Amino acid sequence: MAPIVGIDLGTTNSLVATVEAGMPYVIADAEGRRLTPSVVHFPEGDAEPLVGVEASRARALHPRETVYSVKRFMGRRGAEIPSEEMLLSYLVRGSDAGPVEIPVRGRAWRPEEISARILAKLKRDAERMLGVEVSRAVITVPAYFNDAQRNATKKAGELAGLVVERIINEPTAAALAYGLDKLGIRSKIAVYDLGGGTFDISILELDGGAFQVLSTHGNTRLGGDDLDRRIADHLLTLVAAASGAPAKPADDPVLVARVREAAEKAKRELSDKEETEVSLPFLAADFSFSTRLSREKVEALTHDLVERTRANCLRALADAKLQPADLAAVVLVGGQTRMPLVRRLVEKIFGREPNTTVNPDEAVALGAAIQGEILSGGFKDMLLLDVTPLSLGIETFGGLMNAIIPRNSTIPIKAGEMFTTAVDRQRSMLIHVLQGERELAKDNWSLGRFEIAFSPAPKGVPRVGVQFEIDANGILHVLARDVKTGVEKVVEMKSAVDVSDEAVEKMISESVEHAFDDLAQRQWIDAKIKAGDMLKATRHALGEVGATLDPVERGKIEVALHEVEAALETEDAKTKVGNATLLKQANGALDDATQRLATLFLDASLSRAAKEP
Ligand code: AMP
Repeated sequence: MAPIVGIDLGTTNSLVATVEAGMPYVIADAEGRRLTPSVVHFPEGDAEPLVGVEASRARALHPRETVYSVKRFMGRRGAEIPSEEMLLSYLVRGSDAGPVEIPVRGRAWRPEEISARILAKLKRDAERMLGVEVSRAVITVPAYFNDAQRNATKKAGELAGLVVERIINEPTAAALAYGLDKLGIRSKIAVYDLGGGTFDISILELDGGAFQVLSTHGNTRLGGDDLDRRIADHLLTLVAAASGAPAKPADDPVLVARVREAAEKAKRELSDKEETEVSLPFLAADFSFSTRLSREKVEALTHDLVERTRANCLRALADAKLQPADLAAVVLVGGQTRMPLVRRLVEKIFGREPNTTVNPDEAVALGAAIQGEILSGGFKDMLLLDVTPLSLGIETFGGLMNAIIPRNSTIPIKAGEMFTTAVDRQRSMLIHVLQGERELAKDNWSLGRFEIAFSPAPKGVPRVGVQFEIDANGILHVLARDVKTGVEKVVEMKSAVDVSDEAVEKMISESVEHAFDDLAQRQWIDAKIKAGDMLKATRHALGEVGATLDPVERGKIEVALHEVEAALETEDAKTKVGNATLLKQANGALDDATQRLATLFLDASLSRAAKEP
């Protein structure tokens, strides 16, 4: 039977692996290489795009027609990508809510179409090596990928002609590859994954052969590429000084691509050696460049980038409520963890030497293959559990976020809540699905919106049940049901265009940074909604039965009304926040002052109702 292959679709390199007779291994391509550079080159004319090493080779000569690191753009909207991130040697286009596009040779490519080319090559290579058709795969994604990015990855697999059986988190796959299921029950481990483009730290717990993710943190914009850029900038300065040319070398994309390649090569070599030679022959017709680069220099150039991972590690530990000493193992994933500087930092943070028994480049693909084997019936007693990286919820009255599935919940998961209307005779309810940790809806990411219609009724009467379900692939299905009629709508949050994505790490640090402001906003909005309701109800009651009130009491109510209105005016036009304490006090005073009015109004309504036929 054809296996379900495991694919690590990486920013820099991609791999495909399988399990044979219980042994996972990475499948080499026709040239015997196990890492396929995640690079696609579009040649002139109608020729098929080149993928992998051949495309990598074309990159220096045809930088504009060669696409690399496309994983960074998967499932993202133009507006989410800062302009400096679009500064690559090829063009990246995208604005507002539109998808990111990569125009090459007169055609605009979507990131998933480019990834599909890489996946199609891996599929072909696997078929050639295994001698069977390969049509099913498990594909891995960084733990921090949101729904849109997972969906774009799944779409890429489908475009490549694969049935994507599962999308799993890279650290979870790596834990499988390291065979950490053999550790003792309830052992906790950390997976430190620094690849070409992303950083992930995950704390997992093993429970009877099952992996549970206790917490995940990371940075979707930090990886080996950033180190390469630092080293390349240093080399470019040296090149400029040596050439004496007035033109800035950074303006020449071919030169930049060549220097970047040399920087990456030197970085790798310096993982094993203390010093290496960088040589760039014929940068211009009459100019060649060479220099010696030391490990010490490269460490000095990149130290702060590597150091950035420390805060993520500490936060992941704190989220899991663990100390480094509670961990049974720390494993390394991603080619960049070969750098001695990275290993030293990991050892310092976790107080133990990291486990490096599995090739860090291959761990994720091997784990994905093991997961594929589990799905096709092998390795029966292992089970995978993942968690949601961010809270999921809906927008409620006043623009507040109401979380339905909290961050770090184990998936698959189903959770729901009942909602009602805030306005009389509302005919429909807008379900605005959000992802994030902020109190206000507008500060979270919008995953999409849809409407559910129901028969009009006074406010507060309709009941709409909203249920969120995250399936084993991490994809969110939202169900909204009008409880009265049973009319329901189920929407899969899948369109990359409808989904907003910012770096998860940014979201979390912003939620901490703005915690006080957010709380002040929420308190103000809550008090304002209450004030609005009370003003309306009091005025209505005064109009109906106010004449029967004693003038002194009526005067007190007028004063209390006025105080609520005055408190509402403390709202700052710019920040939209006012004095919530004052407003809450005024609400309370109005509530006290209207006790008798409320009773009178209720009696009048009841006796009127009794008289009606
Ligand atoms: P990955 O995303 O796991 O394929 O990681 C690729 C990243 O690892 C790239 O930035 C490579 O430059 C980097 N890398 C690969 N091998 C080494 C090495 N021996 N030393 C340092 N970095 C490496």
